[in-house]
Amino acid sequence: MSTPSSVWDAVIIGGGFYGCALAVFLRQNGHHVVILEAGADLMQRASYVNQARIHNGYHYPRSFITAWRSLVNFPRFILDFRECVESSFEKIYAIARRGSKVNAYQFREFCRNIGAPIRPASASIRRLFNADLIEDVYTVREFAFNAVVLRELMRARLARLDVPVQFQAEAHHIAQADANTLRVTLASGETLRAKSVFNCTYAQINTLLHHSGLPLLPMKYEITELALIEPPPELRDLGITVMDGAFFSTMPFPAAGLHSLSHVRYTPHESWADLVNGYRDPYAYIAGLDIQTHATYMIHDAQRYLPVLSKARYVRSLYEVKTVLIKNETDDGRPILCREDYGLKNLYLVMGGKIDNIYDVLKYLQQFAQPIDQDMAEASHDQP
Ligand SMILES: Cc1cc2nc3c(=O)[nH]c(=O)nc-3n(C[C@H](O)[C@H](O)[C@H](O)COP(=O)(O)OP(=O)(O)OC[C@H]3O[C@@H](n4cnc5c(N)ncnc54)[C@H](O)[C@@H]3O)c2cc1C
Repeated sequence: MSTPSSVWDAVIIGGGFYGCALAVFLRQNGHHVVILEAGADLMQRASYVNQARIHNGYHYPRSFITAWRSLVNFPRFILDFRECVESSFEKIYAIARRGSKVNAYQFREFCRNIGAPIRPASASIRRLFNADLIEDVYTVREFAFNAVVLRELMRARLARLDVPVQFQAEAHHIAQADANTLRVTLASGETLRAKSVFNCTYAQINTLLHHSGLPLLPMKYEITELALIEPPPELRDLGITVMDGAFFSTMPFPAAGLHSLSHVRYTPHESWADLVNGYRDPYAYIAGLDIQTHATYMIHDAQRYLPVLSKARYVRSLYEVKTVLIKNETDDGRPILCREDYGLKNLYLVMGGKIDNIYDVLKYLQQFAQPIDQDMAEASHDQP
């Protein structure tokens, strides 16, 4: 364990991918950091319950910046985290004839503009689709990540750097301790002091702010369902996304050896926004729900476009509170959220929006994380 002290350089609240990557980054810069994680292990929430897509831009034809940043971050991510990258499948984007916010020509032009490789899909793949409903089909370069392998990678990196992690350590409240330090009070009553505190709790960012008497951010929450299916043999080596509107994706979910199925209409079960509907604790709320799966609706609708899906076998569903900034509701963009001195000096809020945004977060935080231990910094590399 890295020198525990009465005052940490940084307390990182949340042991998801972002909290872990940030802890590695700060430790490599010589800071003494500790991670507080409410759960029993790292990366059990959104960093596990997600579609596992390593974005390469294609998904965001209506948000140029998000698409372009994905394209820039993709090669870095697949190099830095190569052990968790699943690339042994062919990724297909199909454009719906009706109801899509982009047509095939616009999609091709968009890919050309951002420089994302794309080519017409083979005849055998095209034959899988209902040509009455699908305008065109493309093969692209996009992969998936194995969330369990990614978790073990992060665990190993934290251990190598001697970063302590406290589990079952739910932070409840953050306050100024004195002019230079902040105090984090856990639900258990234990307190820690730090020069900086990073709130990396994704769906729970506002909950911590609420308990600390600080203003809430304009977030939108969706109770989401990711169905896990055993795909028919024809789809086993494919990942398919039908664009761009109330359609669906089915692609490998390597952590479970299955495919995920998500549908823009049926994946969200309900949604709310704190600043519109009033504050709600997202984890407490989802834990109290008795959610009935929408998998049958997902499969029924999706098989209109991809008839072979009728042979898929539903296995189970994963549920999580998806959290986005309200301003991205219309363009579907996923910018990072980074705030410093949020209500309290040296309180940082960090939300990545998607996994590969980690590089944008670290770039933003670089200015606040100057190396304080030169030996450590020199020995470090810039892997998050
Ligand atoms: C349905 C869905 C599909 C998605 N699909 C993709 C995709 O295909 N590709 C992609 O790149 N991104 C995707 N995302 C987004 C991606 O999952 C998130 O951007 C990323 O996982 C967020 O990581 P995080 O560390 O911020 O959050 P989390 O992984 O949720 O980590 C937050 C951690 O904070 C802990 N915590 C919460 N409150 C407290 C507290 N008070 N004290 C201590 N600990 C606390 C939690 O237990 C948790 O471990 C998807 C998200 C969802 C929900």
